[in-house]
Amino acid sequence: MRRGGKALILVMDGVGDRPTEALEFRTPLQVARKPNMNWCARHGSNGIMDVIAPGVPPGSDTSHLAILGYDPSEVYTGRGPFEAVGVGLTGKNGDVAFRCNFATVDDEWNILDRRAGRIGGPETVELSNVLGKIRIKGVKIIVKEATEHRAVLLLRGKELSPFVSDVDPHLLARVAKSTPLVPKAKKTAKAVNDFVRESYLVLKNHPINQKRVDQGKPPANILLPRGAGSFPRIQSIKDKYGVESACVAGVSLVKGVCGLCGMEVVEVTGATGGLDTDMNAKANAALKLLDSKDLVLVNVKAADIASHDGNHEKKVEVIERLDRMVGLIRGSVSPDTIIVLLADHCTPVQLGDHSGDPVPVSICSNNTSKDGVEAFDEVSASLGGLGRIRGKDLMPILLDKMNMSKKFGS
Ligand code: ZN
Ligand code: ZN
Repeated sequence: MRRGGKALILVMDGVGDRPTEALEFRTPLQVARKPNMNWCARHGSNGIMDVIAPGVPPGSDTSHLAILGYDPSEVYTGRGPFEAVGVGLTGKNGDVAFRCNFATVDDEWNILDRRAGRIGGPETVELSNVLGKIRIKGVKIIVKEATEHRAVLLLRGKELSPFVSDVDPHLLARVAKSTPLVPKAKKTAKAVNDFVRESYLVLKNHPINQKRVDQGKPPANILLPRGAGSFPRIQSIKDKYGVESACVAGVSLVKGVCGLCGMEVVEVTGATGGLDTDMNAKANAALKLLDSKDLVLVNVKAADIASHDGNHEKKVEVIERLDRMVGLIRGSVSPDTIIVLLADHCTPVQLGDHSGDPVPVSICSNNTSKDGVEAFDEVSASLGGLGRIRGKDLMPILLDKMNMSKKFGS
């Protein structure tokens, strides 16, 4: 059997951008000093990619699904299940999962702080345990803390539906009621509302909150679910492509997507999912994984965070750190390893959110024809030989370069 090289996909979350006046109408990728990324561009095929479809701003969950070759419109109903897997909760088909915030409300359920003073650590572990003991008729409740003020709620029972509205109004307003978006979601909406009411009753006088009030901190006196989703039946990457794969990521959402796709999700000390993440530790973990895996996906969130914060200088600085990470990778991988550089979506700093612009992509390998592109950025990549592809095209192209594609016809 023909056997090809291995592949490492480096997803630089939100690194793509638009030209901006603050950078003399260039993008952060065009401004940053990045000799290693440019080396990859020079030694590879380059192009731009509509991760979902032209003009559609992807979330980090749907974008990773598309990059891995799945159709988000088939497997994605909401963010909850991906977040759940990311924090180590294994859901079953039929379960409905929600992302939640511990929040602070007054007696009338007006939200005073959507993040309860960014509570976290042992306090949310304890409060999540307490909430997991809530009993709702016909529905099993599972609650697990996530990072900072976040948690995951999982409902298990018969005839549950993900098609219910959010309880979290996403702003400082009154707590919303969950409503069924389809008739068969009535039971689920009722269970959510019952749970939220119980969460308030259990939390409002809990000793942890009494202590927080004494200390002048906002109490975490309610749990607000949002982003309901059902656990999809996803064919694993192994079954789909016949490759052994793994993922290195800091943020639970990306870990969840990769976990649900059957990739081994590796915990790396120092991979925080924040601006302070240890990029070298991630690179080293990925390099080690390549010994036993065919495909390794590494996600670094930092550029997306700098973009949401509206900070150009920070984004340029993050790109230069990412470049040193690329340097470490390209200096250590075997020559037949394919390195893919891309973003999962553009997050223009000026917009402070994801946009539907295509992202730059570079596939750097020994058996790729060079296309004359000299730099890794939005403009240079658009002139490359890959042309304009969609997210779902990436895996077939990659498998072919790995000599693992199947012939169509005889
Ligand atoms: Zn993203
Ligand atoms: Zn983002």
